[in-house]
Amino acid sequence: MDHGPRTGARVALTFDADMTDGMLASLRAGRVKSYANLRILDLLEREQVPATFFLTGKWVKRYPDVTRRIAGNPRFELANHTYGHAAFTADCYDLPRLPVDKLAGDVAKTFEVIAPYGGRQTRYFRFPGLCHDAAALDALAPLGVTVVDGDVVSGDPFATAWKPLVRAVLDHVRPGSIVIMHVTEANAAMTDEALPHILAGLRERGLVAAPLSEVLAGG
Ligand SMILES: [Zn+2]
Repeated sequence: MDHGPRTGARVALTFDADMTDGMLASLRAGRVKSYANLRILDLLEREQVPATFFLTGKWVKRYPDVTRRIAGNPRFELANHTYGHAAFTADCYDLPRLPVDKLAGDVAKTFEVIAPYGGRQTRYFRFPGLCHDAAALDALAPLGVTVVDGDVVSGDPFATAWKPLVRAVLDHVRPGSIVIMHVTEANAAMTDEALPHILAGLRERGLVAAPLSEVLAGG
């Protein structure tokens, strides 16, 4: 899925929660303070904005309290972004690659980590770096997941200014859009600054943020 029906006014704000062993090492060494941007949650909660979070298993294990906070919000949906953000295809940025026979197990294990938190669980799945091919899709078929990419890429990873993110989103968003952002703070440091402007721009355009399931259902 890249987007929902182009009718109505709903758009999905989605936030990826990446976590790799390298990121965990950076946290342990004190090189990085946080990969969980609580200012994003503060804003979404304060403004009562629905959102969908694509969680890696390693992020959930590192941030159980934040995961509990996400699961406890009836406006938030929880989705799967693999266990440790490895590549599911060849040549996916610089991510180390998982062999094809390990893909289904990786995704299943991630659901097992997320499920106990309850809340609005889904079978939505997003590939790291959005990298997928026929072999990867075949491997995941038995799991009954819905693969979700998006049609609006904010470009927030490693951004150094917030205005380009706002422009990237508002220039492309329309009814049914799925907006891709990150809740990883140190690796997406401008997202919380861009978000209020993005929300204001959506309102100006008559668009309304909704959980991904409602965007895909249309209306
Ligand atoms: Zn990711």
